[in-house]
Amino acid sequence: MSFNLLPLPYAANALGPLISQETIEYHYGKHHRKYVETLSALLLHEPGLQDASLVEVIRAASASKQRALFNNAAQVWSHNFYWHSICPPGAAPEPEGELARLIGSAFGSVAGLASALCNEAEAHFSNGWVWLLLEEENLVIRSFHDADTPLVHAGVIPLLNIDVWEHAYYIDYRNDRADYATAVTEGVLNWSFAAMNLDGKGADRADQRPEQQAASDVK
Ligand code: ZN
Repeated sequence: MSFNLLPLPYAANALGPLISQETIEYHYGKHHRKYVETLSALLLHEPGLQDASLVEVIRAASASKQRALFNNAAQVWSHNFYWHSICPPGAAPEPEGELARLIGSAFGSVAGLASALCNEAEAHFSNGWVWLLLEEENLVIRSFHDADTPLVHAGVIPLLNIDVWEHAYYIDYRNDRADYATAVTEGVLNWSFAAMNLDGKGADRADQRPEQQAASDVK
């Protein structure tokens, strides 16, 4: 069994000009794809995980401290989540209802939340992920290093993420992570996805099932 690269929820040029088609072609088409391929190769040696979902693989690899398996599986899941956390500029309505209430009480306003996300993205040392999470019924921002994911941290519900690996922005913003974070937070965050994930099912929305290998792939 192996995992496939899930389709993007929009066209590769749909996020322009804030995130270019070339960035998507590299980030999704090469980096994300490579994690999927490496994960599938590693799973050939894991007979106990042949029917496991992506989330189950991540949790099993974390528990057994299989670093390469964890890193690649977690990166696939976090990227699945990221492609839904962003959307074409202007496509997502401003937060409303329960999400707007939570943002107001934790950050004062949507602008306050955007600014806090940017600060976390800029301050995060090295590669990783910035997350908007629900923790004890309050919104919090946390960043995680490398492939680490809220899936293996108790008590947090994932709502939105921002990829702060350099591969997410080097084509459009060179080394300027702050400019990239500003563009994402002010232009393409998918508030509808965050609002949907208040139900606690965000992890499932980025999950995937293994696929039967194509006959030509079977050695
Ligand atoms: Zn990435």
